[in-house]
Amino acid sequence: MGTGIVDFCELDFSEFQKRIQALETVVVPNACMEDIRAGFYEAVDLLKGKHSYAHFFLNSEVVRTFWVSDKSTEEQISYLLFLFQYYFDLQKIYSEALEFCLNTQVLTEYTLSERYVMFCNLRPDFTQHMLRSMYGVAPIANGRFDTSKLIQFDNPAEVDTQKVLRDIHRDSDYSVSLWQYFAIQSLEEMLYLELMEMVKRGIRVKRCALCDQYFVLADKRRRDYCDRIYDGKRTCKQIGAKKKFNQSIEDDIYLQEFQRIYNRMYSRYYRMDAWDGNRQTNKLTEEQFQSWIAEASKARQAYKAGEISGEDMLTRISMGTE
Ligand SMILES: [Zn+2]
Repeated sequence: MGTGIVDFCELDFSEFQKRIQALETVVVPNACMEDIRAGFYEAVDLLKGKHSYAHFFLNSEVVRTFWVSDKSTEEQISYLLFLFQYYFDLQKIYSEALEFCLNTQVLTEYTLSERYVMFCNLRPDFTQHMLRSMYGVAPIANGRFDTSKLIQFDNPAEVDTQKVLRDIHRDSDYSVSLWQYFAIQSLEEMLYLELMEMVKRGIRVKRCALCDQYFVLADKRRRDYCDRIYDGKRTCKQIGAKKKFNQSIEDDIYLQEFQRIYNRMYSRYYRMDAWDGNRQTNKLTEEQFQSWIAEASKARQAYKAGEISGEDMLTRISMGTE
């Protein structure tokens, strides 16, 4: 739980974006439809193996658009361009949600509930999401789906329904053993479900002390490094374990100071907005805030990678904070 959304937020879309920009300049009457289709599929294939469900949803949308729609060629292309843009936007929104609601390193003075409510005040659309839920007869044992009772059949006509039902219900506590499940039909629904379950269960995320990407904190143990491969063969965790001089982020005065400034900027931008809904009193516009965050993240990444000193990092992020 949580790795789907974290991996989506950390997906590097730059190559993908380049392909899309190239497709945007295609002039339809002059181009062969096959080439255009191939261009879109190549873009989609860039996600293959990098993110299971993002690739799945995007691929099915593209197939549906090209083969089962009554749209004209122009409409198909503009719809797909819109769809790809929508994926980039989703990444921005869900990265913000992760950072705001679940990152243990920011907004530490607030509780999880406060953070979630503040986030909903900022992004009211979030409270409007709905998910389709369905019921199906299924074997359930101790509140869980009982996979040991699953049967496989090739021909539905050969199934002895009465016997199957008796088997399912034999040791069920329910009048009718029904399993409730979600019918997820889009990437957004999937991300939403995952985020809400994380918020509900209090599953937190953190940025890795080495590669700076988010990772899921599966339990209460202190962890500073993720399990991604960092230098081609070793993971961040393996490298981190050997870093004597940087035993923990908490001991690093530069990262401590970074965190203090970062939290102050966060509060300056979000707090008033979120609790009072009065944009007039807010000193930072969304644009200023976002561009500061982007710069600050780059500086922090460069520091963690050892490219700049701690002093340099602080100088870089102090610009525009007063
Ligand atoms: Zn890492």
